[in-house]
Amino acid sequence: MSREKSAEIDAYIGERCKTVSSWNEVTAQVNEEFQLNWTVGSVQRRANKAGHHLPDRHCIGLMPDRNGILVQCPEVFAPVKADKEYHSTACYNWTFQRLALGYRKGDPYRKGAHTKQHPPKICKEGWTIRDGLIAVCGEPFTRGRTDKKYHSTECLFRTRRWRELGYHLKDSVRQECAYRNCRKGEGGARGTFDRIHRSKSGLYWRDARCKAAETRAQRADKIAAKLAEAAHIRAEAERIIAEQQSRKVQIADAVDRAIPRFVKLMPLLPLRRKTSKELLALGLSSNEVDAIHMPGSRTAKVAARWFISLEWGVPFDTVAQYHKESSKGEQGNLKTFLSSSQQTMFG
Ligand SMILES: [Zn+2]
Ligand SMILES: [Zn+2]
Ligand SMILES: [Zn+2]
Repeated sequence: MSREKSAEIDAYIGERCKTVSSWNEVTAQVNEEFQLNWTVGSVQRRANKAGHHLPDRHCIGLMPDRNGILVQCPEVFAPVKADKEYHSTACYNWTFQRLALGYRKGDPYRKGAHTKQHPPKICKEGWTIRDGLIAVCGEPFTRGRTDKKYHSTECLFRTRRWRELGYHLKDSVRQECAYRNCRKGEGGARGTFDRIHRSKSGLYWRDARCKAAETRAQRADKIAAKLAEAAHIRAEAERIIAEQQSRKVQIADAVDRAIPRFVKLMPLLPLRRKTSKELLALGLSSNEVDAIHMPGSRTAKVAARWFISLEWGVPFDTVAQYHKESSKGEQGNLKTFLSSSQQTMFG
């Protein structure tokens, strides 16, 4: 074959490689065009030398990877036949059987497990939490040992632990955060969560921050209550003192008002030596008579104090003390009382 002819065939192969997708087709067209009887292999070799090629084809078969997950077969092959999709017959057969069993790419695959023939067994003994309630586990598991009741050992231990804690199916384990201002729930609502371990106090916190915040809030409440109690006691004390003060003032005023009367009477002494009958005859009231006869009633002031003591039914000493205090004007008393009452409360 001449060099020119050879170059012409190479160019033709290059042209074909751009339009057809298998070496079989390239070969058939070359043989027809140049009246040749070349094999696929020799056309491929020629093309290779001339730098023409069809892209390698990826096998569409399935195979389990290192983690037992079904992935696409990594083999590539030369696209000899137009319809060839698997790199080998074995790969095709294996993949075909797995597809027939219901496996798809991405499924976990265990040798000897048949998903199609037997529907998966459901874990009916195990428990899980669904919507805040203890519920049947329901996890599917492939049949291995027929006496297996739980889909996993973890499920077995978990269920046993919950039973020991006294839970039953449909028991609620949903709790609400006890922090009054908790906003950690959906849409800023109070936080809810599922918690298996019961709290002795009956209070649940979504997290440690919520617990600390509630503790602070309770401490503030206590202080506020103490302050309110203090304010109440103070008001009560002020009321009592004001009441006492007003009675004191009234008694002292009464004494002051009575004094002029006795000032007039005293010069008419020796009244004290006259009998009650005589004094009554002079127009004195019986309390005035008694006041004048009292021991120590030598001055109008003392006599007036006695008179008010009798009129008001208050002991003489009390009347005398009130009268004395009113003239001194004891304003410091209230202050002293209040500060001492506060000290006993917060001391
Ligand atoms: Zn393959
Ligand atoms: Zn289970
Ligand atoms: Zn919270």
